[in-house]
Amino acid sequence: MKPEVELYDTTLRDGSQGEGINFSVSDKIRIAEKLDAFQVHFIEGGWPGSNPKDIEFFELAKRKKFKHARLASFGSTRRKGVAVESDEQVALLLQAGTPVVTIYGKTWMLHVKEVLRTTPEENLAMIGDTVRFLKDHGKYVIYDAEHAFDGFKGDSEYALATWIAAEKAGADNVTLCDTNGGSLPEEVAAITRAARGRLTVKMGIHTHDDIGLGVANALAALQAGATHVQGTINGYGERTGNCNLTSAIPNIALKMKKRCLSSSSLAQLKELSQFVDEIANLGHNPRQPWVGSAAFSHKGGTHVNAVQKLVSSYEHIDPALVGNQRTVLISDLAGRSNIVMKARELGIKLSDDLPELKTILARIKELEHAGYEFEAAEGSLAVLIRKILQGRPAPFQVNGYHVSMRRENSASICEATIKVEVKGKAAHTVAEGDGPVNALDSALRRALVNFFPQLGKVQLTDYKVRILDSMTGTAAKTRVLIESSDGLRHWGTVGVSENIIEASLQALVDSMEFALVKAA
Ligand SMILES: [Zn+2]
Repeated sequence: MKPEVELYDTTLRDGSQGEGINFSVSDKIRIAEKLDAFQVHFIEGGWPGSNPKDIEFFELAKRKKFKHARLASFGSTRRKGVAVESDEQVALLLQAGTPVVTIYGKTWMLHVKEVLRTTPEENLAMIGDTVRFLKDHGKYVIYDAEHAFDGFKGDSEYALATWIAAEKAGADNVTLCDTNGGSLPEEVAAITRAARGRLTVKMGIHTHDDIGLGVANALAALQAGATHVQGTINGYGERTGNCNLTSAIPNIALKMKKRCLSSSSLAQLKELSQFVDEIANLGHNPRQPWVGSAAFSHKGGTHVNAVQKLVSSYEHIDPALVGNQRTVLISDLAGRSNIVMKARELGIKLSDDLPELKTILARIKELEHAGYEFEAAEGSLAVLIRKILQGRPAPFQVNGYHVSMRRENSASICEATIKVEVKGKAAHTVAEGDGPVNALDSALRRALVNFFPQLGKVQLTDYKVRILDSMTGTAAKTRVLIESSDGLRHWGTVGVSENIIEASLQALVDSMEFALVKAA
């Protein structure tokens, strides 16, 4: 299916510049895998010239096979007065080894003169040289025209000349960026139309939400001739954020009726949105359009009544199309098909009419009520489903543990002991660590690796803690999300308790158990 609108996700680059967002390399890999499964067309992985974490991400990504998405690295045009061949930042873009390279350059004369402090001619040469150089190295080149709209308003002929320079040098796509996020939809439409009249290359749109119009501006550009849209999941990004793809995608597919994504992918939108929030360790916004938990909830008596009679009376669309649901009428069926779908992803075959499904669903609801979240904890979900379906005992049992802390030569050292049992055989181990969770992880691993050598490869790659609001007046609960990897796969597991150590142990145990059942 050839898309009418290409989706370009920059959650891992522009999105990661949002306040309160800090992705580890393993977070970025997991999000990239999720976006690929969701079938976006491009994933911008980062800016290798701006930080070492992004270089590491691209090194890891080289070993991954993305099925649907093409990976892009991001950077700028060459520096002024430097030959493109000897520009280190451009060299890093090639080293990233991605099929797609996106570079940004200046449109706005004000920036050329005052920020770059160079001549209009040199700026055109910087654009042309860099695009040509990357094309010569076999890259698919996207040219992001920074401040495209402000630049056009200042000097339209010069703005056009910069875009034409990119096109002439062989760019595959020229994307107009509303970098400061202050444009109105009619301006974006008019300028996109003007550019469309002068360029033959594929055109894209990259907007920001500074005046609450990020999505509206992107749609306006698509109506005026752009066929590629850049944005982030949940609208993450600097200041007030980027064009929110979580809103833009269903608007493009369901309202503008342009082909961009299969309906089965679209039905995973809510899950994707929650997954990315979980990885970012942010609460999901209930009022988020399309995917928020309140987006289709009906509280007012007349609404509920009307919705029960005729669902279309108070809903602009069927929530299931984006994987959301009506909250007054949570149907067991919707819940069921979600679990069946999730289980299939995890390699567990379930049929829709399986009687155990009801038990699984009830258990998940109970745990969610207690503060668990499974969107980013597929390891825990798989362990839970298997436990109920197969009724087999877990591969190992933790019979007790103890964690203590002491100071030694002004350093604090944590020590953990743990008792495990495997098929009637007991092991009792001790380990030290620089924190209680680290010590517990080491002790558990040491105890288990004698029985299951394959666990030697499993590593804890990330650890996140969230304090859940207490509604009951009792002590607040802690949710721990652990990410693990065996070098090939990454997975998440979750634990919840009033005690952070206990919550961590739950997540650690699930992680090991998932590694074992997965390998089996
Ligand atoms: Zn941006």
